[in-house]
Amino acid sequence: MKPTIEYIQTRFDEYNERFFGGSLPPVPVKLSHAKGFLGKVTYTRRKQGLFRGYRNEDFVLRINVRIDLPEPIIEDTILHEMIHYYIAVNQWTDTSTHGQLFRREMARINREGHRHITISHRLSASEQSQAVLTKGRVVAVVHFADGKTGIKVVPKQIKHILAWHRQALTVAKFNSEITHISWYYTDDEYFSKYPSSMALRIYLIDTPHSLPLANAHRLIIGESNVRLDINPDNNLRW
Ligand SMILES: [Zn+2]
Repeated sequence: MKPTIEYIQTRFDEYNERFFGGSLPPVPVKLSHAKGFLGKVTYTRRKQGLFRGYRNEDFVLRINVRIDLPEPIIEDTILHEMIHYYIAVNQWTDTSTHGQLFRREMARINREGHRHITISHRLSASEQSQAVLTKGRVVAVVHFADGKTGIKVVPKQIKHILAWHRQALTVAKFNSEITHISWYYTDDEYFSKYPSSMALRIYLIDTPHSLPLANAHRLIIGESNVRLDINPDNNLRW
């Protein structure tokens, strides 16, 4: 499921009563589509005059809706962020981001509520491929013997990727021989201008090193399958 603001707000109120004695002040909730986190509590640390300490203010609770996640994971994400909020709103200082205070509260809520909150949530293989495969495009970067480079966007189905790969390498259709094809899965909108088809038409690229593929996932072509090689720099974590 992908949570709505109302859903998160309802869970927040429920967990606030159940695990924090209703002590947490209401907090603005925002949905995020950013990469790199499932949830986040942001706030400002403001200095309180010359000889007094800092105060945490202007809290926002952000929950990521980029991926369709199972409901228990969303609930645990909300709880995880509520622990951060609990510590920060009380102006406590933990030993680290997920320090002793955080771990004590996490253990308590896991025990009392039979939850499975963790420090860092690594997505399962299916969640990862779902994260990538919902929106992305399959891009072939084709290297020719004469040094030129071209690209081609191919439909996402494995049979299409394999068929196009074999054809391009065997059909003598191009001015120069193809030496190598690198495959990528990317959601970068740059590639939306190229038609996705099975046609053996390759678009030559003048500056191949400037292609926005740094965050793309590699696709490894096998005999009869295509494997997604998840780019660790494009991984969702808390
Ligand atoms: Zn955290």
